[in-house]
Amino acid sequence: MRGIMRLFVFVAALLCAQLAGAYTVVIDPGHGGKDSGAVGKISKEKNINLAVALKLGEMIEKNCPDVKVVYTRKTDVFIELHQRAHIANKAKADLFISVHTNAMPKKIIRRGTETYTLGMHRAADNLAVAKRENSVITLESNYEQKYEGFDPNSSESYIIFEFMQDQNMASSVSFAKEVQQQFSRTAGRINKGVFQAGFLVLRETSMPSVLIELGYISTPDEEQYLNTQKGQQAMAESIFNAFKSYKNKK
Ligand SMILES: [Zn+2]
Repeated sequence: MRGIMRLFVFVAALLCAQLAGAYTVVIDPGHGGKDSGAVGKISKEKNINLAVALKLGEMIEKNCPDVKVVYTRKTDVFIELHQRAHIANKAKADLFISVHTNAMPKKIIRRGTETYTLGMHRAADNLAVAKRENSVITLESNYEQKYEGFDPNSSESYIIFEFMQDQNMASSVSFAKEVQQQFSRTAGRINKGVFQAGFLVLRETSMPSVLIELGYISTPDEEQYLNTQKGQQAMAESIFNAFKSYKNKK
């Protein structure tokens, strides 16, 4: 009898935890302040990321009263990568969404959206994106100590990612797939797919985490689109729809 009572109390506690709305999502607009991220002809990556991230957060706050939204930044300020992960870990977040905008060197034209989860660098292409997004740590003081000797420009530094077990991998990939589907379904954008790469900010978080590349700031029509209200709204709505669908399956 006592065993049954205990089980009852346990189940009730679980239900309460769910009803209390203990779900936290951390939204991380990439770059900020002295770190512009990629720079296009008419805009900077940091501003696109922030605009879409704020719209996404607003949608979640308005439509999901059971979800707490935490931002790593809400204004144009510089936040170190490990600090972004720390904010998410401290908030005991259930999901971490980092929002970025892609770029290609020289005059290479590429179009489409990508969503990354932490993983091995299988393709040279993925390594290039990870290197570019990680290189921000060189703007931080003592980055060698902070990231345990990690050198964002050395391929060897990425080998360690191959040995890292990520228990949140399946959830991260499942959310990433939803995001990519919604980019084509909701916003009519090109879905380039889900990839794995060695992003430092994802390595340091301890919950399902993704890094989204909204499109190419280096491709004029995509840069244009990502700077319109309509484009930013559609991108935010896509991520929001993916979030709802992902959370409902949990
Ligand atoms: Zn970026």
